[in-house]
Amino acid sequence: MQIIRLPVEMAAWSQKTVIKGHSIALVPTMGCFHEGHLRLMRMAKSTADCVVVSLFVNPVQFGPQEDFSEYPRNFNHDTALAQKEKVDVLFLPEAAAMYPEQGICTKVIVAELTSGLCGAKRPGHFEGVTTVVAKLFNIVRPHKAVFGLKDFQQLAVIKQMVYDLNWPITILAHPVVREDDGLAMSSRNIYLSPAERAYALCLFKSITHARHRVHEDGFNDAALLLAEVRQIIGIHDDVVIEYISLVDRNRLVVQKKIDIDSVLALAVKVGSTRLIDNDMLFAENKGVP
Ligand code: AMP
Repeated sequence: MQIIRLPVEMAAWSQKTVIKGHSIALVPTMGCFHEGHLRLMRMAKSTADCVVVSLFVNPVQFGPQEDFSEYPRNFNHDTALAQKEKVDVLFLPEAAAMYPEQGICTKVIVAELTSGLCGAKRPGHFEGVTTVVAKLFNIVRPHKAVFGLKDFQQLAVIKQMVYDLNWPITILAHPVVREDDGLAMSSRNIYLSPAERAYALCLFKSITHARHRVHEDGFNDAALLLAEVRQIIGIHDDVVIEYISLVDRNRLVVQKKIDIDSVLALAVKVGSTRLIDNDMLFAENKGVP
């Protein structure tokens, strides 16, 4: 596995690789790898000749009150895991290479899809995400890029950006990867105390409950379902609900009636840790363990 730090070197590697006739799949990450990231790498490996994993804790997608400086970083662990997955290149740009001191004047903004859910709670977050992903796409020039459904709003936003800007990149989605007890894997889970980790299971419990209501009891009223989910999550004083929403998977529009495209989207704070989860209620599984 090659470790590349400079964008110009990364671009040169990609150019050489394409000239050799090889396809490239990119997996953008912020590191501190867990099994969720590794599954994305395996999906990338199964779909292209070469895999590039970028690891960049992107400062501009964090708000001023958010956890940029504390965000978990574990370079040696990440390098070893990426190597084990037979990733071809680990791309580790320095912040100064992505955002020079004089600043950048260009931002990529995807309207509409970013106005609700996490976009409403984290002003500027998606602008930071789309700008950095656009830069990564231009540097790496992948044929395909793999994103996780754990961040399903992010995935919808990136797909829209690629469509709107005519990038010849196929976006692939990997289902949510969960711990055995259902907690969605996240680099932020390491912030949770044992008690908080137990409370965090209310997210998966409410997804399981919602599926039961929809599939077994034939529920189709969003407000009724959301009220029950709110009750399940609201049981613990240490869990503060940021949003509980039912939206359609493509346009992220709030739904009154549950249908085949419905996604239950959840964001809570457990103690000081922000966790998100979601479920496409009609997909075959509620994430893979
Ligand atoms: P992050 O490093 O948290 O920015 O995540 C990098 C990529 O991994 C994003 O596309 C995430 O959606 C994806 N990802 C993170 N956690 C999971 C998970 N539990 N299941 C599936 N994909 C995930």
